[in-house]
Amino acid sequence: MRYDVIVVGAGFAGSVVAERLSARNKKVLILENRNHVGGNAYDYEQDGILIHKYGPHIFHTNSDKVFEYLSQFTEWYDYRHCVLGHIQNKTVPIPFNFASIDDCFHADQAERLKTALIKEYGRNARVPIMELRKSRNPDVNALADFVFENVFKYYTMKQWGLTAEEIDSGVTARVPVRLSYKDGYFDDKYQVMPKRGYTALFKKMLQSNNIEIRFGVNAKELISLDAEGIKFNGEPFKGSLVYTGALDELFDYYLGELPYRSLDLVLEKNNGTFQKAATENYPGKESQYPFTRITEYKHFMENEPADITYIHTEYPLPYNKDAEKGNIPYYPVFTDDNQKMYKDYVEMAKSYPNLILLGRLAEYKYYNMDSIVERALLKASNM
Ligand SMILES: Cc1cc2nc3c(=O)[nH]c(=O)nc-3n(C[C@H](O)[C@H](O)[C@H](O)COP(=O)(O)OP(=O)(O)OC[C@H]3O[C@@H](n4cnc5c(N)ncnc54)[C@H](O)[C@@H]3O)c2cc1C
Repeated sequence: MRYDVIVVGAGFAGSVVAERLSARNKKVLILENRNHVGGNAYDYEQDGILIHKYGPHIFHTNSDKVFEYLSQFTEWYDYRHCVLGHIQNKTVPIPFNFASIDDCFHADQAERLKTALIKEYGRNARVPIMELRKSRNPDVNALADFVFENVFKYYTMKQWGLTAEEIDSGVTARVPVRLSYKDGYFDDKYQVMPKRGYTALFKKMLQSNNIEIRFGVNAKELISLDAEGIKFNGEPFKGSLVYTGALDELFDYYLGELPYRSLDLVLEKNNGTFQKAATENYPGKESQYPFTRITEYKHFMENEPADITYIHTEYPLPYNKDAEKGNIPYYPVFTDDNQKMYKDYVEMAKSYPNLILLGRLAEYKYYNMDSIVERALLKASNM
């Protein structure tokens, strides 16, 4: 088969583009390193429980367009994600909210703090912790110190290997302090899970005869970039190459390695039920809790089995492509130096007009699933 488009990676970025182009009768080849579709959203069933191999994935979006598009490939069930945090021997709602204040302070002090917060930011506001720390009101400031110390400081250091001040402020702003009793981790219009899991969704998305997928293939084995352009199997390739892998790898680390954080995800089987919420955070010091969070997968399910459970404990660590643990690049590390190196790679990529960079690795950016689907739909419509 002659291919109009080669897509590297069968995660959301690559799969959405492949599906959209195949529907326009383009011949698409997908090259996927792993032996399965779905990228980091891949899930599989064990003892009747769907396990997310690369860490918990909860679907949430405000986009009607993304929800309707994905609904062609799956039915959904409603799922509201709740997270608890283990703080000073108590288990409190995360994001930190008025119920968390009630749990952590005496009643009169809690009332004073809530009143001061509402006065300064308004009822129902969502305030990033770094914003809260700038307050000149002594009550708000004391609360900000408490939340920073107990919820963000060590969690950020464990997760990123950097202090909250060193990392881009957008990272800590993802989990704001909520000035209300509203719980639930997300506020989006759609908070759902695919009825038969993500892998089933991907399989349906990629079933066109116009799509060929080769698993267990690193694209670098078949694709090369040189002064003459893109080559596939040693021959010039004039179609589009949609690349969703890491950009430094594509250019053989010519400008250096882009830093990522990785995770050691430890899966355990237990009897009964392990914890109350689907995800529970452990934001204490590394010496107390060397991990960040534990997810219990059966709480994601429509019908939870009672007798058995699987949990994932997440131990963050630096990415090292050659190491036994931590060899998956999960999160780009947002610092100015790293962004500069990434931009220099993008300049190199501009020499190849038929090379399209898409996805969390190729764009060195954290995307939620809905954002990358939206972006892939847009890219495909312009191809
Ligand atoms: C631990 C964790 C939890 C998350 N939880 C959520 C969540 O709850 N909700 C949410 O909306 N989002 C979540 N996300 C984000 C979500 O995973 C991303 O939005 C999504 O994976 C992005 O899709 P992608 O296609 O860009 O990348 P990926 O899913 O990583 O897919 C890229 C694919 O390319 C393949 N590949 C890379 N290089 C090559 C190569 N050289 N040759 C061949 N194949 C290659 C990889 O094997 C991979 O399959 C989470 C992310 C992580 C890391």
